[in-house]
Amino acid sequence: MRALLFLIFIVSTSSFVVTDPPTKLEMIIKDDLPFLVEFYKHRHENPEISLQEKETSAELAAELRKLGIEVTEGVGGYGIVGILKNGEGPLILYRTDMDALPMYEKSELDYASKKEIDYEGLRTGTMHSCGHDVHMATWLGTARALVAMRDQWKGTLMLIGQPAEEIGKGAKMMLEAGLYDRFGVPDYGIGLHSSPTIAAGQVGFGKGFTMAYTESVDILVKGIGAHGASPHMSIDPVVIASMIVMDLQTIVSRSLKPTEAAVITVGAIQGGIKHNIIPDQVKLKLTVRTYKEEVREMVHRRIREIAKGIAIAAGLPDDMMPEVYIREESTPANYNDPDLVEAMTASGAKAIGEDNVIYAEPVMIGEDFSMYGSTEHDVPTVLYWLGTVSEEKIEAGNLPGLHSPYYFPMPAKTIETGVAVTTQSLIDLFNG
Ligand SMILES: [Zn+2]
Ligand SMILES: [Zn+2]
Repeated sequence: MRALLFLIFIVSTSSFVVTDPPTKLEMIIKDDLPFLVEFYKHRHENPEISLQEKETSAELAAELRKLGIEVTEGVGGYGIVGILKNGEGPLILYRTDMDALPMYEKSELDYASKKEIDYEGLRTGTMHSCGHDVHMATWLGTARALVAMRDQWKGTLMLIGQPAEEIGKGAKMMLEAGLYDRFGVPDYGIGLHSSPTIAAGQVGFGKGFTMAYTESVDILVKGIGAHGASPHMSIDPVVIASMIVMDLQTIVSRSLKPTEAAVITVGAIQGGIKHNIIPDQVKLKLTVRTYKEEVREMVHRRIREIAKGIAIAAGLPDDMMPEVYIREESTPANYNDPDLVEAMTASGAKAIGEDNVIYAEPVMIGEDFSMYGSTEHDVPTVLYWLGTVSEEKIEAGNLPGLHSPYYFPMPAKTIETGVAVTTQSLIDLFNG
């Protein structure tokens, strides 16, 4: 009975209390959790979308300054950099993103966002539906824990508050604003993202490529317009575009090595206005996802070859070949450095127990955190998944994804787990 009571105590108070008596880190997090949950709820209720993170960044900067951390604001838009120097040792980057999405929240939380904005001519809500609010609370909690435990590690922590992740621009903006020139090239870079499928209390790690190179591609298909009843007087771009859409399906199925991965999705076909007019152009909008550079190059080449080949077969002259544009809004694939993953999973196991550190499969979504590693400096980085959902939701199979108006994390358990794993990982990395 006594053993059972003890077990209930452990389970109900804190998932990461794995040691008896509790470690200093566990005690610090337990004491700080009410503050961090309040901070989280405040941020959840007051989201700001990409490139508008004015209040959010100011609040994060103010919180770091309270801890005696040196903060520089305006590093790439609303980007902030906090430098916590604590003797001789490695320089480690730890990033949180700050932006929310332009959408109405449909959760029933009493701290749900009710904030509305005008977005590209439309009235819409704002919502932290990607969990960046939980990233910020974890980041702040980790900074607070590391300050409280500064006698247990040596080095310099570079705390990044990054804007505009959702539009794939923020990391680039900060790097282009001279992040590494001004503050030094880090020895390691770490970050986390909330997972809508992993239970709160657990974390997930993948090794190697874990997230995709994401690109937007436009294809402008040209043609010769005519009356819908006189197709012989046209070169019909609707038919050419349709054939291109179908042939694009053969890139993954026929040109790609079966053991490699890629996605080519045509998300929009835009052309024509009326039933009986053959238009003179059609636009295709694609999203392309890959991991490896050689696969990415092959996919680009095949898209161009297919578009051109079909246009030639349709009888279009040389000066009317389809135009293929790769848009600039792309993010490179995220590569988790295998040695750093090994180190962090060991730290994670120390902090929350081995059973709570799980393997996470790669996904085809993108994250611009990848840019901190893939500079000319080649910094080893890891972005890990922080579990956020309740066991009940997992059992019921009720798992709204990221960017869903119904998605929300379990704040306390998620934040304490994130702070425990991140702080322990940083301490261990600092101590080599
Ligand atoms: Zn997102
Ligand atoms: Zn996100």
